[in-house]
Amino acid sequence: MYGKVKGDLQRELQSIRDAGLFKGERIIITPQSPEIEVKGGKKVLNFCANNYLGLSSHPKVIEACHKTLDKWGFGMSSVRFICGTQEIHKVLEEKVSKFLGTDDTILFAAAFDANGGTFEALLDKDCAVITDQLNHASIIDGIRLCKAQRFIYQHADMSDLEARLKETQTAKYRMIATDGAFSMDGDIAKLDEICDLADKYDALVMFDDAHATGFLGKTGRGTHEYRGVMGRVDIITSTLGKALGGASGGFISGHKEIIDLYRQRSRPYLFSNTLPPALVGAYIAVFDLLSETTELRDKLEANTMRFRQKMTDAGFNIKQGIHPIVPIMLGKFENDAKLSQNMATDLLDEGIYVVGFYYPVVPKGAARIRVQLSAAHSFDNVDRAVEAFTKIGKKYSVI
Ligand SMILES: *Cc1c(COP(=O)(O)O)cnc(C)c1O
Repeated sequence: MYGKVKGDLQRELQSIRDAGLFKGERIIITPQSPEIEVKGGKKVLNFCANNYLGLSSHPKVIEACHKTLDKWGFGMSSVRFICGTQEIHKVLEEKVSKFLGTDDTILFAAAFDANGGTFEALLDKDCAVITDQLNHASIIDGIRLCKAQRFIYQHADMSDLEARLKETQTAKYRMIATDGAFSMDGDIAKLDEICDLADKYDALVMFDDAHATGFLGKTGRGTHEYRGVMGRVDIITSTLGKALGGASGGFISGHKEIIDLYRQRSRPYLFSNTLPPALVGAYIAVFDLLSETTELRDKLEANTMRFRQKMTDAGFNIKQGIHPIVPIMLGKFENDAKLSQNMATDLLDEGIYVVGFYYPVVPKGAARIRVQLSAAHSFDNVDRAVEAFTKIGKKYSVI
């Protein structure tokens, strides 16, 4: 049988290559940090990790991880409800809830699983989900797993959201679902207006804060803090795999009854292994650190503002905003897709690791280079990136 499948797969893979969409993987031979070494011996400044707070290799996190490994063991070989819940799992859940300002939190192996378990456990065929057009793949898949009717609203368009709310008045429950911060543009959901509409039309508000938890808002609680709606949202999903240390793990946080129900019904929680102890211990240290001081998110903010200002001054067209995701837009230039790839390659030669995105990952005519700042970057690192961009930008007459 495999002979036929093999031939088909080889053709499929070739068509991915021919379309220029084949995703290779660059091999890194150092820990994740602002300066990494890629195979072949080249040292580069890393501007494409989700290591927003620089916690991926932070000494306190590594120390806590080692200590927990020694004390609590390597694995649990169980799901949570059989024999996979240690005291530290409950401690971490409490710390996350306290940090986010919610009643309770339930841990998952990943945010992808958290979103996979968010909708199906709560919503049946008489319910409706109203979802932003640009939501993350894991929200899309989570909604696919549930029997509720799905309604899509135009990205960040509040009048379209209102139209969908009017259209679904007969549903048993309605849930609005959105990313907190969107990963391609770095724009931030208007959660305040969303909460107003949810109040007016009696809907639940769910948001996925993977690109915000730990640093958005004055004390880093996330999009709900940034938009001034802490206490007004119903369900927060997020990842431990980005700003919060970046190993792996995710969670859902929210009202007590909802989280209680998830512990009974959420399938990725019930039928998948518990989060390993060493990670749990490391994440406890992360939440302790972030609850004590806003130093890291403040440094990230300063780096972000510095980079955005200097790139604007240099003449680049960047998407305006405040997020450490900074897209440098190339759409108005000829063959923007190729330009984004050429520039990223040249920047790597200059020691700056960034990634170019083009259609179909982003809309046609909206190719870009996406830069992600970290609290672990020094001002000097940021300035070196701007210098390299300026040199390469001139080479291609982008500025
Ligand atoms: C990265 C991301 C996820 C997936 O997180 P994992 O914990 O790696 O599964 C989910 N949602 C959004 C919005 C993300 O950006």
